[in-house]
Amino acid sequence: MRAVVLGGAGFLGSHLADALVARGDEVVCVDDLSSGTPANLERHEGDDAVELIVADACEPLQVSGPVDAVLHLASPASPRDYLARPLETMAAGTDATRRGLELAARHGARFLLASTSEVYGDPLVHPQRETYWGNVNPVGARSVYDEAKRYAEALTAAWHRTYEADVAVVRIFNTYGPRLRAGDGRVVSNFVVQALAGKPLTIYGDGTQTRSFCYVSDMVKGLLAVLDSSVRGPVNLGNPTETTILELAETVIELAGSPSSIEKAPLPEDDPGRRCPDITLARSELGWEPTVPLRDGLEQTARWFRAYLGGGASGS
Ligand code: UDP
Repeated sequence: MRAVVLGGAGFLGSHLADALVARGDEVVCVDDLSSGTPANLERHEGDDAVELIVADACEPLQVSGPVDAVLHLASPASPRDYLARPLETMAAGTDATRRGLELAARHGARFLLASTSEVYGDPLVHPQRETYWGNVNPVGARSVYDEAKRYAEALTAAWHRTYEADVAVVRIFNTYGPRLRAGDGRVVSNFVVQALAGKPLTIYGDGTQTRSFCYVSDMVKGLLAVLDSSVRGPVNLGNPTETTILELAETVIELAGSPSSIEKAPLPEDDPGRRCPDITLARSELGWEPTVPLRDGLEQTARWFRAYLGGGASGS
């Protein structure tokens, strides 16, 4: 198969590209390098199986040769990034989704949209099932990401209804692992970098808010399972083990063998209080569930950051 990965030089996109190549597929990565980096794909240099096109996914895109799948993973995804680039984030959900759908239509390819648990906003239902419509502040700071992804889902659904297009929507819950950007502001990268430097770990709010962290290799397997199926979704992909941010901080400190303390900082606006995926659908329709425990994944992540920050290899 030949797949186009929008956002292919990013954290998740590059791991997906690795997995596609490992099973014999060809990948065209499209990335404007605003948060991704060619270093994430450097292992494929000189390899015909991966091509990187540096381009804005919001612009019309021509890809020569056959295309069997278009996977749209191009967007700022950390709150720090999307709050700093609100209009670009909205365009990634709107314009880039339409461009991706158009590209897939021209080639008769399957289109996969990487949506997000943020479509559930600050959820009032736990755990979150795909049938829950969410609790999103439509004009709050986070709306640039949440509402853009909701629009992206709506557009993908409308495209399917109108053209019977072959589409899939996945809702990705917090994912972590090697190649997270050190400065992207997300909790796992912040905590690991802080712990390795012996600096205080910054907990926003009182640390009782929860997230459910999925290791990147599990997530990539889930994405491939959806790609290879005829599932249209939306389908949740995430690890259903719920963890408080305080527990996460303590675990990172312990695993890093760090002398770091914990420091409290203000909770960001509209920060969701609880988040946990119900993955019944993914289990039954795809036979998929995560297998990497949080401690193992954090150890891998810390090992990678240690090498990376120490000037070592940037690949995992
Ligand atoms: N968070 C924190 N300290 C940090 C970064 C994040 O306590 O240094 C909290 C943040 O307020 C949120 C959770 O960790 O409650 C997850 O934040 P992240 O930005 O990773 O992702 P989100 O799930 O909010 O998109």
